[in-house]
Amino acid sequence: MSLSSTQMQAIDEGRQHVLDVSHLRQTFKRSGSQSELVVLDDVSMILKEGEIVGLLGRSGSGKSTLLRAIAGLTAPTSGDLKFKGAPIEGPTRGIAMVFQTFALFPWLTVLENVRLGLDAHHIPEEETHQRALAAIDMIGLDGFESAFPKELSGGMRQRVGLARGLVVHPDILLMDEPFSALDVLTAETLRTDLLDLWVEGKMPIKSILLVTHNIEEAVLMCDRILVLGSNPGRVRAEVKVDLTQPRNRFDPTFQSLVDDIYGLMTTGEKPSAAHAARSEAHPAHPLSMELPRVSTNRLSGLIEALASEPYLGRADLPALADDMQMATDELFPIAEALQLLRFAVVEGGDISLTETGRLFGESETNERKRLFAEAMIAHVPLVTHIRRVLDERPGHQASFSRFLRSARPAKKVSRTASVSERAGRR
Ligand code: ADP
Ligand code: MG
Repeated sequence: MSLSSTQMQAIDEGRQHVLDVSHLRQTFKRSGSQSELVVLDDVSMILKEGEIVGLLGRSGSGKSTLLRAIAGLTAPTSGDLKFKGAPIEGPTRGIAMVFQTFALFPWLTVLENVRLGLDAHHIPEEETHQRALAAIDMIGLDGFESAFPKELSGGMRQRVGLARGLVVHPDILLMDEPFSALDVLTAETLRTDLLDLWVEGKMPIKSILLVTHNIEEAVLMCDRILVLGSNPGRVRAEVKVDLTQPRNRFDPTFQSLVDDIYGLMTTGEKPSAAHAARSEAHPAHPLSMELPRVSTNRLSGLIEALASEPYLGRADLPALADDMQMATDELFPIAEALQLLRFAVVEGGDISLTETGRLFGESETNERKRLFAEAMIAHVPLVTHIRRVLDERPGHQASFSRFLRSARPAKKVSRTASVSERAGRR
């Protein structure tokens, strides 16, 4: 017998919410300044019993900040956090966290590290011991109870981290990029083991909130994916993954979902290049526009790869990332920088070279330097501004601090600014 989608929905809606986050805002004071850094702005989400929800976003988008707030480790600036209807006001029984860096105590054995999860629970000694052993056994560490972390491989250390979360039998297991410190194969094994346990209903937990910057990982593991945008972090989209487990990365539906999410993550991001590309007509860019941090070598490398076989100017971003053995996180800033300089255009998960980009690919070093300089002067407002100021000055010199001042947040390159600048010099 199969259920109609309305029946499924009814069941889904009947499930208990274990977590309700509404209008969460988190700001931090910028050091040495009065201004505030808005990390999360108006973030709302729910987590229901029985689901794995992914929180997908680029590095710096505020994923860890959100997770720490849910874990009760930090108090949000404003907004509401509820665990099974009750406000979260500090570390909460029923919510456990697994960290990217494992966070094990080196002087404690595997068993002692796992038992720590139950420390605050005031459970009888014998039960604590039994539950710790069961968690260790479940996660595949049987026989390593008295080993110390330094005697274990990275993958096994993270298994200890997981066991410490599982031993609590939490309603919510929060996982902050739990596989990203592991090599590719180890990460894959651990993901699969975890999913098997989950699908077989063996894990003593009700739901999982998984933070990741890896799109494939999110599509592989999650029932729903919340795509978090940056600056400030906001939920930009929610994607339902209606594929049965075990999922196959090579399934075309899987691939097209990955592509769609790539598209969601690369378009409309502010203050990104996508924005800059569309605003040729608006020369008043903020001078403080944030530039992607990438080396010129990486820029040339990507242009060369794109220009040659099999891409010949256009590539699917996930395929390109794979080909260049890069993580999403590494490829994004490069693609963004190329778009900013108008060497490439990113759209719907694809990247394609512009005419200038092609020319760059075909050129020798000196010509490349010239093209790069031209692009910087034409498309990076701060560079345009510096060049203009230097050109206007008799000695072609200006003090460094002068530009630091003008690069302050929110100040625009405007005619007024340059006029008063000139007036100030007289
Ligand atoms: P992600 O986990 O998505 O990579 P984080 O949540 O770690 O992002 O950080 C998001 C932004 O918030 C970053 O710019 C980071 O520097 C800033 N941030 C995080 N915690 C603090 C803090 N305690 N004080 C000031 N800034 C912070
Ligand atoms: Mg993080």
